[in-house]
Amino acid sequence: MIAPEGTMKTLIRGGTIVTATDTYTGDVLVEGERISQIGTSLEVRADRTIDAKGRYVIPGGIDVHTHLDMPFGGTFSVDDFRTGTIAAAHGGTSTIVDFAIQERGKSLRHAWETWMGKAEGKAAIDYGFHMIMRESTPELRAEMGALADEGVTSFKLFMAYPGVFYMDDASIFRTMQRSGEIGATICMHAENGPVIDVLVEQALKKGHTAPKYHALTRPARLEAEATYRAICLAEVADVPVYIVHLSAAEALEHVTAARDRGLPAFAETCPQYLFLSYDNYEEPGFDGAKYVMSPPLRAREKQKELWRGLRFDDLQAVSTDHCPFCMKGEKELGKDDFSRIPNGAPGIETRMSLLYDGGVTTGNITLNRFVELTSTSPARIFGLFPRKGTIAAGSDADIVILDPRGETVWSARTHHMNVDYNPYEGRTCKGAIETVLSRGEVIVEKGRFRSKPGRGQYLKRAARP
Ligand SMILES: [Zn+2]
Repeated sequence: MIAPEGTMKTLIRGGTIVTATDTYTGDVLVEGERISQIGTSLEVRADRTIDAKGRYVIPGGIDVHTHLDMPFGGTFSVDDFRTGTIAAAHGGTSTIVDFAIQERGKSLRHAWETWMGKAEGKAAIDYGFHMIMRESTPELRAEMGALADEGVTSFKLFMAYPGVFYMDDASIFRTMQRSGEIGATICMHAENGPVIDVLVEQALKKGHTAPKYHALTRPARLEAEATYRAICLAEVADVPVYIVHLSAAEALEHVTAARDRGLPAFAETCPQYLFLSYDNYEEPGFDGAKYVMSPPLRAREKQKELWRGLRFDDLQAVSTDHCPFCMKGEKELGKDDFSRIPNGAPGIETRMSLLYDGGVTTGNITLNRFVELTSTSPARIFGLFPRKGTIAAGSDADIVILDPRGETVWSARTHHMNVDYNPYEGRTCKGAIETVLSRGEVIVEKGRFRSKPGRGQYLKRAARP
């Protein structure tokens, strides 16, 4: 590839380059925004040389499940596109796919433009959008094609939250059929919302108001049932389905069975389901509220099933569902009623570190699989590959340099997320993210953010061919 004269050249020298398939020592030459050459000892004059000896050089993380600046019951998730993407960058994530939310009675384009406006001038890394549809009218289904043309090639539906996001099976099915026609993927929040609402009502009637009842009213079996139903509906509608934030081993069984039958069924899990568990809801006082999210944290002894899924490709991605609410003023809205605690937790900054520490250094997954789960596979599923998701000539120079001898200690006092607690407070993770490049620009250097919000670009994602 020939770069125009005067293009900035950055040489990353002598690192251990790790992709989803390979591990080798080499040099990476970045010209402008892209990777131009990879070799064993490149003889080039560069404007800047980064010594990566003894470090891993991996593709920038891709988090395909974030909720920045998301409206929720009169308030908003506390990270906007500025603070959220800067925190992501610190954590080694250089691309996010966030969710635009269609408002009842309004168009999909209105939602997309609203979210484009939220990111404009603020995002520090590149971003794309999925579209959450709250209703399925003939007009909205017709409009899905135009959204796909704008690069919104995945639509998220909810089987949970009646009266808010919930969609009935017939509407889900019609939306799936349309999605299949236009080469888009369906993302599904799979929990049986109407039945959960009955359990919540019964719990509150008995005076069960503590945070732990959030988990006890959302049993794993109701996630499994919805997951199975989503997969069956998608099979009949002939569309790929991606189960978001899978937490229950019982739900994973259905994904595994579907994949064994050759169906295009995909699923992600999140670090919280791998490193936290139901026990966290039993923390003293109101602290259990920190972990109120849906689906809830599950039994610790089931985590090994999720790891198995990650190893054997029954789970294809680890994303965060980053949706932070402060304990003060927000989570405490549910002090006397768990059903009023805002659902969501922070994680956009901690994902890569936790999965490296708790996945790679423990031997649960290989380093290559780590790269695949945090970058390559989400890029493939959501139409970003090979521009994003790998280290290859011609790909965007989104690169993370990770020092395996370094260490990261997580705390609300030092993290960059705009939230007053960290679910992993005090946890020491092996490995330190030193340097992060996004389209050739060093945006994090020695653990410090060196760039400007607003530099992030909107990513038009491809439909399935
Ligand atoms: Zn979510």
